[in-house]
Amino acid sequence: MKYLSVIGAGTMGRGIAYTAALNGFSVLLQDMNEETVLAAKEYIKKELKRSADHSYIQPEQMESALSNIQYTTNFKEAAERPDIVIEAVYESIPLKMDIFKSLDELCPPHTILATNTSTLSPTEIASQTGRPQQCVAMHFFNPVHKMKLVEIIRGLDTADETVAIAKDVAERLGKETVEVNEFPGFVTSRMNCLIGNEAMNMLMEGVASAKDIDKAMKLGLNHPMGPLELADLVGLDTRLRNMEYLYQTLGEKYRPCPLLIKYVKAGRLGRKSGQGFYDYRKQAQPATGRKN
Ligand code: NAD
Repeated sequence: MKYLSVIGAGTMGRGIAYTAALNGFSVLLQDMNEETVLAAKEYIKKELKRSADHSYIQPEQMESALSNIQYTTNFKEAAERPDIVIEAVYESIPLKMDIFKSLDELCPPHTILATNTSTLSPTEIASQTGRPQQCVAMHFFNPVHKMKLVEIIRGLDTADETVAIAKDVAERLGKETVEVNEFPGFVTSRMNCLIGNEAMNMLMEGVASAKDIDKAMKLGLNHPMGPLELADLVGLDTRLRNMEYLYQTLGEKYRPCPLLIKYVKAGRLGRKSGQGFYDYRKQAQPATGRKN
């Protein structure tokens, strides 16, 4: 496992690419949108420099990570060589199925196809390929370079060897893994979406301000981040897609909060657009560098 391609250079794709390059993989980061690819390149350069300036990494590590990573908008190029592909496009079953179908057609026979889905079925995503035994879900967390966990979700036909490779790759990225049986939302998203949605409902009902809801969860329940701050970090569009799928598969208790729907309609997508439950517009450039 040396060549790793990432499809989708948004919040997660760029984080996975950054972490993989820093840990010695030869990385190709692809997105269909050229502006996003450029923003991802800037983000990665800035993050590496910041880590070197704070002595979290050595200057040589920064240089070697920079030389380990290439960028492209060309999907075919990203599929040509990798030993493993990690897909991180929008949370949409038809889109991910389409991408897996094309990857299956274009990638070498040995390539492992992994999806970073937060909620969806790896079995369904793999069903369009002729290699379901080499397909798996690797659920990373945001920000990827800081968060320790990767959930590994096995689809119906995922081979033991594929699970072992996915675990090994995650460990080489400095992560710990848990193996989860396929079920909508796995462990973390199923739990986290419910907490976040309840916080949004409380805000809508006027129970407390966003700041006080988050403060209560941090100081009273020892959560490292408040659920509304976390939703802003995840991206409210991404969170809404997660909620819609969980509502559709797990039922009423996952009905997306109307306030979340309203914010997404208004283009308030959290940190990446500059405004969500909080206003980031007076701070430095949002982490993803995207304009919406
Ligand atoms: P995002 O909206 O920030 O980025 C998605 C990217 O996919 C965009 O840059 C878009 O241009 C690109 N894309 C869409 N269609 C494409 C295609 N056909 N080919 C190439 N690129 C394409 O989304 P995100 O937050 O990074 O989420 C990506 C995936 O990761 C989703 O499945 C999400 O559920 C999952 N995830 C997100 C988080 C989080 O905190 N944001 C955490 C864990 C997992």
